[in-house]
Amino acid sequence: MDIQSVGVVGAGTMGNGIAQVCAAAGLQVTMVDVSGNAVERGLAMIAANLGRQVKRGTIGADELDAIVARVHGTTHYEALKSVDVVIEAATENLELKLRILRQIEQIVGHGALIATNTSSISITQLAAVLERPDRCIGMHFFNPVPVMALVELIRGMQTSEESFSRAKALVDRIGKTAIDVRNSPGFAVNRILVPMLNEAIFALHEGLATPEDIDEGMMMGCNHPIGPLALADMIGLDTLLSVIQVFYDGFKDPKYRPAPLLVEMVAAGRLGRKSGRGFYQYS
Ligand code: NAD
Repeated sequence: MDIQSVGVVGAGTMGNGIAQVCAAAGLQVTMVDVSGNAVERGLAMIAANLGRQVKRGTIGADELDAIVARVHGTTHYEALKSVDVVIEAATENLELKLRILRQIEQIVGHGALIATNTSSISITQLAAVLERPDRCIGMHFFNPVPVMALVELIRGMQTSEESFSRAKALVDRIGKTAIDVRNSPGFAVNRILVPMLNEAIFALHEGLATPEDIDEGMMMGCNHPIGPLALADMIGLDTLLSVIQVFYDGFKDPKYRPAPLLVEMVAAGRLGRKSGRGFYQYS
């Protein structure tokens, strides 16, 4: 079945980005949030992002109007009734997501695909709450959604081949690149990235080099666009700690133990950019 319309649940950082890229690809989008303010902010964010594109000359003003007109923002879940796909992008909380997924399944048609943008919760566990778990899949977008080209497609144990194909067709339609990943803590990208960042913090703690030299080493020696410590500051050290903790708990393998310096910095409230101080100082 061809995808013409998309529902996005959650109008926050990721939700409004997902709504924007879907509408820009010509799809009708229904963006639902529990908070009317969040809906308004989400719509305003889409208009502001597109406004910057108009200024840069990448889209015309008439295109901006057309894209914005394709996004319908609401606080009513019933508006999802006839969409072909729903992408859940609400707050990262297991109980909340289980409730939302059940609610979505009660409203959408029998053929609708139900995707979740969770970054750490098991797709198999989320799918299990549905009457038809075969139609559930992980669609993990990256932040900022309009800029980042990748979507990880995560197959839960119950995800059907048809659901995977439909999700892949949607990723193609919105001009992004999909990778095919099996359900596992951190999926693929964070599984590789986060231990690397944690290792950089071990290296700093052991006095191997200064933060500047560690970052310069990875940028110059590995062609990374940003050093691991600067990236950790950007992600937020509390977020990074909670992700590495998911690996440690999920795999029960000491190779995923959080670097003691990371734990110490989070305890001290040095969370990176958002708190003004992490491995670097921010004004
Ligand atoms: P956010 O806090 O910016 O937005 C979450 C939104 O969900 C809020 O607007 C909130 O009002 C809404 N919400 C809460 N309960 C709801 C409900 N019952 N129904 C509808 N909406 C509800 O969060 P975010 O950063 O956009 O993250 C959303 C999801 O995307 C999370 O699962 C997160 O793990 C995942 N994710 C985040 C990033 C990132 O860098 N921020 C990257 C990839 C994936």
